[in-house]
Amino acid sequence: MVTERARLIGGRLVDPSEGLDEPADLVIGCGRVLEVVRHPERARRQAIASGERTIDVRGMVIAPGFVDLHCHLREPGFEDKETIATGTRAAAAGGFTSICAMPNTNPTCDTASDVESLLTIARRNGVVRVHPIGTITRGERGQELSEMADMANAGAVAFSDDGQPVKNARLMRNALAYSRVTGRPIVDHAEDPDLVDGGVMHDGRVASILGLRGVPAEAEEVQVARDVALARATGGRLHLAHVSTAAAVDLVRLAKSHGIGVTAEVTPHHLLMTDDWVAGNGSGRPPFNTNCRVNPPLRTDADRAALIEGLIDGTIDCIATDHAPHTTLDKDCEFDQAAPGISGLETAFSFLMRLVEARQLDLPTLIRLLTVAPAAIFGLDAGSLRVGSPADIAVLDPTAEWTVDIRKFHSKGKNTPLHGERLHGVVRMTLVGGELVHEVGG
Ligand SMILES: [Zn+2]
Repeated sequence: MVTERARLIGGRLVDPSEGLDEPADLVIGCGRVLEVVRHPERARRQAIASGERTIDVRGMVIAPGFVDLHCHLREPGFEDKETIATGTRAAAAGGFTSICAMPNTNPTCDTASDVESLLTIARRNGVVRVHPIGTITRGERGQELSEMADMANAGAVAFSDDGQPVKNARLMRNALAYSRVTGRPIVDHAEDPDLVDGGVMHDGRVASILGLRGVPAEAEEVQVARDVALARATGGRLHLAHVSTAAAVDLVRLAKSHGIGVTAEVTPHHLLMTDDWVAGNGSGRPPFNTNCRVNPPLRTDADRAALIEGLIDGTIDCIATDHAPHTTLDKDCEFDQAAPGISGLETAFSFLMRLVEARQLDLPTLIRLLTVAPAAIFGLDAGSLRVGSPADIAVLDPTAEWTVDIRKFHSKGKNTPLHGERLHGVVRMTLVGGELVHEVGG
């Protein structure tokens, strides 16, 4: 832990949790935020005179470190795809300081001791804070509920069978009833497997042209409808992972208007890409790019517009990456054989800056959707720079340009359709508990 006082000077402090967007110095020490100095010049002279260490962030935005409710760190069991060491370094490079790890590892995270061992590895090898998510059903087999209360006591922040849906409605109802006991949300990979029926991309015009089997939008819609009904019946806490369709956004909006306990996240790729990318049109590249295979699939432009509208009107609560690293081998095959997923932690912020450039979101709103908004959903002590909070900080250069280069990724997962793409917005520094865990030059 860094015990000395340090002062980030000359930046624009954007902390949506406090409604702040103005020039301010941020003073940190003992791993926490000590002071926000809103009229900094005079105080700065005194402080610097007293020997306080300074970190020059002129021209930069100081934001709370980002919070990701949905990523796959692959350890234990799939260390060829990612480890907690590499995944947390990728997170730090993307400005993320708290990340929640999905339990579809091998073995799955099913018990209190699984949660504890993940936390132990994360403390030893991780450079950002890692919060385990436990399974809803043992082994994600959909047969019987996991020991959710024990896992919650051990530190699991939520429960999910992500990667696949909970097919059995009775089990889902019981899980939602349990969420009232644990106080932890049930995170829903909402997809009806009978309707997916071997589909590999969105079922629409582009799938027909490419001759690929489609996943219809209603595969998501019917399960969102089912689980909203079960959340209402039980009074449980439902969180919808990676919402991808206009119809699902409408259902969430309706559910919220009835006061049902539902929240929702959306990924950067569903906000910024469509099924046209699978045909190569969006990126000007050849079709059948396996790095565009993702689950749920990239949808239509109308869905994309509805997701953005849902974010703006508060129907969708936050953005989560669904960082899903794979080996080159997992993607170096026919489109329909490729493992679904995008390695997203290192490009999330810059890719999302395209929404700011298009004036669909402003920067403070984007920062809110990546910080205090997700932290509130899982009840994490994160996403804020109020005095006394952990000194988890992202220093952002919103206008700087860079080119995505998978050879420079910290993640083992090089699977991104954004390789070679020019993006605006560079994460200059990331601090966790006041310690610098990532820095790139200007
Ligand atoms: Zn999922």
